Amino acid sequence: MSAPPSNANEECVGPQSETAGKAASCAGCPNAKVCASGELNKPNPEALAVQETMNNIGRTLLVLSGKGGVGKSTFASQLAFSLARRNKRVGLLDLDICGPSVPLMLGLQGQEVHQSSSGWSPVYVDVEGGGDECELGVMSIGFLMPDPDGAVIWRGPRKNGLIQQFLTNVDWGELDYLVVDTPPGTSDEHISIVQLLKASLKKGDGAIVITTPQEVAMMDVRKELNFCKQTNIPVIGLVENMATMRLAADSLTFCDKQGNSVDMDALREKCPEIFNLDVSLSVFPQSGPGPRGMAEKFNVPFLGSLPLDSHLQRATETGKPVAQGNAHGEFERIIDSII
Ligand code: SF4
Repeated sequence: MSAPPSNANEECVGPQSETAGKAASCAGCPNAKVCASGELNKPNPEALAVQETMNNIGRTLLVLSGKGGVGKSTFASQLAFSLARRNKRVGLLDLDICGPSVPLMLGLQGQEVHQSSSGWSPVYVDVEGGGDECELGVMSIGFLMPDPDGAVIWRGPRKNGLIQQFLTNVDWGELDYLVVDTPPGTSDEHISIVQLLKASLKKGDGAIVITTPQEVAMMDVRKELNFCKQTNIPVIGLVENMATMRLAADSLTFCDKQGNSVDMDALREKCPEIFNLDVSLSVFPQSGPGPRGMAEKFNVPFLGSLPLDSHLQRATETGKPVAQGNAHGEFERIIDSII
């Protein structure tokens, strides 16, 4: 499935839809002739190769975000951990070519992939709390780079070639779930991923879109949701991340308006009840009805709202599954609804 060309009309129905080039919204589009010819509907040999690789995979979950920094890779990593801890065979494919953070988030920094006659072998994670059947294999460009701090300064065709290799040349074996961490936004790489994967998507496959609640993130997510619509990628749901931060008051230090530290022992003695409470604050200014309202507007399920949680941050930094804290319960509820 091709993504709409950059010069497509705003209400593009998608170059591979049945009405492409003939719909009212195609009027005046410079691509109308080629869209109407059906040329863009011909099977793409690379996509067919991807399809063959994906035959042994149960469900494919694409994790998308409109922009970087909203917690997409954290979500993808913890999603993979959580599914594996439910005794599933899981693959995590990190296609964020320019910012591969999955090796760190899975505790696999410095690991290398091995090549066999059947392709690249994923790096396997020992999943704490997983059952006998559970398995978590990971593939990331991070494993192929000699210097983890080195920048990937490749141009489009080379990046797209690597994405294709990742989608066709990894020997996953049989998987219940493949979680794909995609690059943020709707860049060239992103379009390549969709073009290659689209034909392989089955019932139950689709995108999980991650956003934070402020307008600067949501405006890009709206583009992402429109991209999914135009390319016919089903959206499993939208997740709001970092909506609030909740902390035990006991873990805080207080200061006066000038920034001078307050004597905590004196405060504790004066108002002991405060220290039995949690403090909750909004991290970002919410725009309009927020991510929940945006999900309603786009008619996609709203999967839940994850707080900014130090347990989750610590788990991510140390490459472990989050097993406690405020985010944990909500995260598990979100995974339940995805399953
Ligand atoms: S379907 Fe084709 S002709 Fe119609 S708007 Fe999209 S790109 Fe243009």
